[in-house]
Amino acid sequence: MLIKPIGAVHSSIATTREMPHRGSSATVEVFPEYEDGLLGIEDSSHIVVISWMHAADRRALRLDKVGPENLPLLKGVFSLRSPSRPNPLGISATKLLKVEGRNLFLERLDLIDGTPVIDIKSYSLGWDTVFAPRGFWDMLPLPQRDPNLMLDLLRAQAFNFHGRSCRGLLMGVKMVFDVARRWNISPRNPGLRFELGNDGCIADAVQGTTGATLGNGRLTCHTGSSWTAILGQRALRYEPVERIDVSDDEILLTMDVSSMFTIAEGSAAAVSGSHQGRCGGGG
Ligand SMILES: [Zn+2]
Repeated sequence: MLIKPIGAVHSSIATTREMPHRGSSATVEVFPEYEDGLLGIEDSSHIVVISWMHAADRRALRLDKVGPENLPLLKGVFSLRSPSRPNPLGISATKLLKVEGRNLFLERLDLIDGTPVIDIKSYSLGWDTVFAPRGFWDMLPLPQRDPNLMLDLLRAQAFNFHGRSCRGLLMGVKMVFDVARRWNISPRNPGLRFELGNDGCIADAVQGTTGATLGNGRLTCHTGSSWTAILGQRALRYEPVERIDVSDDEILLTMDVSSMFTIAEGSAAAVSGSHQGRCGGGG
């Protein structure tokens, strides 16, 4: 097996320790002898970068204290995304912002400066996108995890579903985070369901972060502006406040959720809306 690097990563991040959890903006330079392979790449909004994580430990097969949160868990490397593995290949799906000659400008990449690039592929909606996957991490109760990291991850999931960031989306992320924190569950707990309020952006955040959809019955319609989270006999209702007095949407992520919603907790029967029903068709 002969594998030759076809390019290299240029990034302002030089060590893995400095790397933000969700990566940093970066450029991939494709070497001159491979330039012809870039023909038509600008037609793709997203690409997959396959890299050789040269600084990785190749001997480890099991890791404890894994992940950026340092949780004391014993896992095999093939059940993780850690760089430590016998063949330290990295796969990174990212948005292609622009192409200039042999340089690909990427929205974010979790690879340090100088990382050899092995291959580049177009991201495929059919092959690569799984809307509601379940991994070990996704099922851990949210309070066991690092809150800032979780907020960041939920925001990324919501963003990927909605296609852009906006005020409603960030409010939805904060609401889902609050539900999972109060009830000590994972946002993707299969028993968690929601009654839809009337804000479409919050609806996308709920779907993107919890896996609840109209089709799987974890989203149901009711009339009104409030949202209700339901788990067994418990319910939490979130009524969006009329006006949020902050200029920058990003501030929403540091605001207390009670400044965005009037929150009521009670039994599912008492709190949830009276006009329940499935939206649209489907069975
Ligand atoms: Zn929106």
